[in-house]
Amino acid sequence: MNLILLGPPGAGKGTQAKRLQDTHGITHLSTGDMLRAEAASGSKLGKKAKAIMDAGGLVSDEIIIGMISNRIDAADCKAGFILDGFPRTTPQAESLDEMLDAKGLIINYVIEIVADNDAMVTRITGRYTCADCGSGYHDQFQKSAKDGVCDSCGGTRFNRRDDDKEQTVRSRLAAYQEQTVSIITYYRNKGVLKSVEGMKAIDEITAQLNNIVGQRKAGIEGG
Ligand code: AMP
Repeated sequence: MNLILLGPPGAGKGTQAKRLQDTHGITHLSTGDMLRAEAASGSKLGKKAKAIMDAGGLVSDEIIIGMISNRIDAADCKAGFILDGFPRTTPQAESLDEMLDAKGLIINYVIEIVADNDAMVTRITGRYTCADCGSGYHDQFQKSAKDGVCDSCGGTRFNRRDDDKEQTVRSRLAAYQEQTVSIITYYRNKGVLKSVEGMKAIDEITAQLNNIVGQRKAGIEGG
């Protein structure tokens, strides 16, 4: 099964995609994670991408589409994949359709995590992850039991994304509003759009997503 998760920055796409990956054995593909890995490698492409990401802008379609096309061909995507952060614009959605067509693949569902944009600034600017195991925390909403120590692995080093600063977050939210919201209509018109309520607790959102994916699986298994 192949899915796309849509929603503003901070809606919880990454968190939910990781859970869907673990539960359903479909691979989480985040273009943001891929670009951050490229930036961390210090490559020329990575440096160029980092400057754009730090300003809250969008990296060129050519780079993004090439990256995703290669990744989808890998063995771990054969059972399915979850796209997170791509497509972000109508031209990207059209390129994805062409690319999947050529590979003989389809998107089964596009799931929008509906979230209030204003609340996203507080959510994003307070988030950080354990540098050792990647567990996610939040200054206000999800503190570790012991200050400065990861609940999962005991690690004491934490990371914050460079683009999670307030000014950049506002640019990212504006980019979502201007460029990404239109693809919701694109997928609604294709009849593949589903929505879940993103302002609920993380576990409740997971339950809504599992429901959609589970129904689909039951449909396939039942012929
Ligand atoms: P994300 O982790 O999805 O919030 O992405 C972080 C940043 O990576 C974005 O603000 C963009 O600068 C860049 N990026 C990620 N995905 C895309 C995409 N599909 N198209 C263009 N830029 C992207």
